[in-house]
Amino acid sequence: LSLPLQAKMSRPVQARRLEGIDKNIWVEFVKLAATYSKVNLGQGFPDFPAPDFLQEALKRALGGGSHMLHQYTRAFGHPPLVKALAQLFEKLLGRELDPMTNVMVTVGAYQALFCCFQAFVDEGDEVIIIEPFFDCYESMVKMAGGTPVFVPLRPKAPKDGKLMSSADWQLDPTELASKFSERTKAIVLNSPNNPLGKVFSRGELELVAELCVKHDVLCISDEVYEWLVYDGKEHTRIASLPGMWDRTVIIGSAGKTFSATGWKVGWTVGPDRLLQHICTVHQNSIYHCATIAQEAMAQCFQRELTLYGKPESYFVQLPRTLQQKRDLLIQSLVSVGMKPVVPEGTYFLVADISEFKSDVPEVPNLDEPYDYRFTKWMMKNKGLAAIPLSAFYSEAHKNNYTNFIRFCFAKEDATLKAANDILQKWKKEKTGS
Ligand code: PMP
Repeated sequence: LSLPLQAKMSRPVQARRLEGIDKNIWVEFVKLAATYSKVNLGQGFPDFPAPDFLQEALKRALGGGSHMLHQYTRAFGHPPLVKALAQLFEKLLGRELDPMTNVMVTVGAYQALFCCFQAFVDEGDEVIIIEPFFDCYESMVKMAGGTPVFVPLRPKAPKDGKLMSSADWQLDPTELASKFSERTKAIVLNSPNNPLGKVFSRGELELVAELCVKHDVLCISDEVYEWLVYDGKEHTRIASLPGMWDRTVIIGSAGKTFSATGWKVGWTVGPDRLLQHICTVHQNSIYHCATIAQEAMAQCFQRELTLYGKPESYFVQLPRTLQQKRDLLIQSLVSVGMKPVVPEGTYFLVADISEFKSDVPEVPNLDEPYDYRFTKWMMKNKGLAAIPLSAFYSEAHKNNYTNFIRFCFAKEDATLKAANDILQKWKKEKTGS
């Protein structure tokens, strides 16, 4: 063979669909937080233990269960889990569901989203994304060959010096309607919304539903924070509105539901007409999710079905606990002069940092938005990690939203207290008192 020893490849290796999506906020900020922060309120995960019943369910599945739980199970979801999910969603949606055709289990909500975009979006299709948005929607639409079309929630300043609420961030109905066209294939709805914590009202969902029906558009409804809703607010499922079941895929996550993000168990719920295409993507990519995790998760959902609506239900207890944590963090932030936007749901809140501009040095020749600079400076100088809000916006709109950062409050009270200590010390240094 007369080939040179160093026969390096010279042609481009990267597929065109990866162009422009190589940067990832989580990869960058998770690393920074690990290097610099003492208190990490950045990435969204609870640092308190997952509930005992979940740990016990896993032990049971491992111990007393069948040895077959170590082998493959049904590709589209372990039967006990799809049955439990179908039972639960029958209750929530008030319609009969077939566990075998209306539910599919995925590797977290991430894979559910990926399957949806791959299943429904063709080259040239447009997908409407409401800003601020969970960042992967944009790259997933692009990877499928689609074009994301962005529409921002517009904040309205509250009167009489009150704190802003996530409800003050609203869609402009005319602007939203203007984004729909014959090219629109789908809209992504995320209620409760990461990063704002906004819980879309029934009226807002009716507006979205009306436009979906009028333009014959699909709705990919990311409801991973469905149980994390505060102050007596109610989470309305868009699939339950007239005309919407047939065109909606609901996405959920056991990671958020049971404070166990590392389990990566997620699901899609929807009509057979849509789910069958999601199954096609799944069977040709992941094919199968871990059996043992699905078995344990099935037991957790069975428990919740038995306790449904009762005070012992985790669906009741978790939001109660988180609401207190939300209020603790709000107090700490207010006391140092940040202006938190009170979230109606999720375990995130964003806070206005415009009062801190003089604290953060400008970096010459670095074209970095203020919220990025602020977050990095805060991590390195104060040891507190958060995420810049503009990371949740498209390139074209980023520069309008650089005065906020996102905190996660699904943390032990001790972690929130440590954050408070940092903030109080900072305040003393600022005011000298
Ligand atoms: N959707 C939203 C809105 C999220 O915030 C997250 C996780 N941060 C996901 C989907 C992904 O969920 P999972 O961890 O179950 O893949």
